[in-house]
Amino acid sequence: MNILLLGSGGREHALALKMSQSTQCGQLFIAPGNAGTAQCGKNVNMGVSDFEKIKTFCLEHAIDLVVPGSEEALVNGIYDFFSKDAALQHIPVMGPSQEGAQLEGSKAYAKLFMQRNNIPTAAYREFNEKNYEEGIAYLQQHSLPIVLKADGLAAGKGVVIVANHEDALEEFEQMIKSAKFGDASKTVVVEEFLTGIELSVFAITDGHSYKILPEAKDYKRIGEGDTGLNTGGMGAVSPVPFADAAFMTKVEDQIIRPTIAGLSKEGIVYYGFVFFGLINVAGEPFVIEYNCRMGDPETEVVMPRLQNDLLELFTAVAQGKLNEQTIYADARVAATMMLVSKGYPEAYEKNKVITGIPAPTRDQIVFHAGTKQDGNDVLSNGGRVLSITSLAADLSLALAHSVQTAEQIAFDGKVYRRDIGYEFI
Ligand code: ATP
Repeated sequence: MNILLLGSGGREHALALKMSQSTQCGQLFIAPGNAGTAQCGKNVNMGVSDFEKIKTFCLEHAIDLVVPGSEEALVNGIYDFFSKDAALQHIPVMGPSQEGAQLEGSKAYAKLFMQRNNIPTAAYREFNEKNYEEGIAYLQQHSLPIVLKADGLAAGKGVVIVANHEDALEEFEQMIKSAKFGDASKTVVVEEFLTGIELSVFAITDGHSYKILPEAKDYKRIGEGDTGLNTGGMGAVSPVPFADAAFMTKVEDQIIRPTIAGLSKEGIVYYGFVFFGLINVAGEPFVIEYNCRMGDPETEVVMPRLQNDLLELFTAVAQGKLNEQTIYADARVAATMMLVSKGYPEAYEKNKVITGIPAPTRDQIVFHAGTKQDGNDVLSNGGRVLSITSLAADLSLALAHSVQTAEQIAFDGKVYRRDIGYEFI
């Protein structure tokens, strides 16, 4: 089977490695890829939303499967582009239709979907230019803190939590009247603040049946002890200790099953990964957000723990036979730690030579995120540079192993957190 994987982060390196390990893997292409994906297949210089170029490439290289790594191509309608084109219809796309991708692309759409399907989530109201004055009145009487969310995609920055009503009104005005996040904040979701601990749960679906993958918890703040600015993610662990059988039964009964049943009942075409961003409020799970793809860095702990052949799962999804599959997970704990460029998530420098990356073993894989190959050198090429995943009998051991490797890898301006998973140690 020839595969085209779209993306260039640590998530895509983890997916590429996993697919390359399958006996079904023929040629694997990654567009645009990074220095790590180049070790699993062939990188192709092509944008993830350049659908015409992707079409030509797929036909010229007899591609049998397209795997979008991030939401970008999905929200832009790559599934629909393939399913409507007679020349491409035979190539499954491992992701939802453009409508299904709205679960991630529009927070208002996701909220309405959850409401219709009785899925536990924070109470909310939706506002825009038309009911702006109503929004002001609503905010003035809202309990504190208040969560304001730009409806559309805002590069992970569109959620603002405010502690008082003045700030809420100012933020609301900036989002709707001053287009703080462009078109993304034309509509704003105002949401009740939930207090609890977050985790990420993943399922794979063929639109009717689903399988639950290992869960994970990510660490978004730049600084140790969860301090400082938000990032794309500084590390992750899997499994999550509080996601015990009783909690996961609630997640499945109240959230996963109703979500997949809702998609099916409403005729929303959905293949591939569903990411449930959840919060555990006194033992009860609530949905904070849906994503229509795997998380990054969660993929870097989920894929190493997944013992199934990923291409076998993808084939089952494409054929609507996922119910015949069983998921197997490595019993070991996985922890991943991101090495980032000094300055990230604000301005940082690229093109630093990276040395000391060890070869993968059964216990450790260094995934590439923002890297590129330059002759014999590997250079930094982004804010998040490498993701060091270690597997061990417990979290402290896994973490210690990642820290050891983090010290051994060298590049100018290397920054990382040593406390990934700290609350579970
Ligand atoms: P991401 O960057 O993870 O894709 P996003 O921009 O799509 O995030 P959300 O995941 O909806 O936005 O929210 C971002 C973060 O804000 C959440 O991870 C959570 O920490 C916090 N948050 C969102 N909604 C709530 C809520 N109702 N109560 C408490 N915290 C919340």
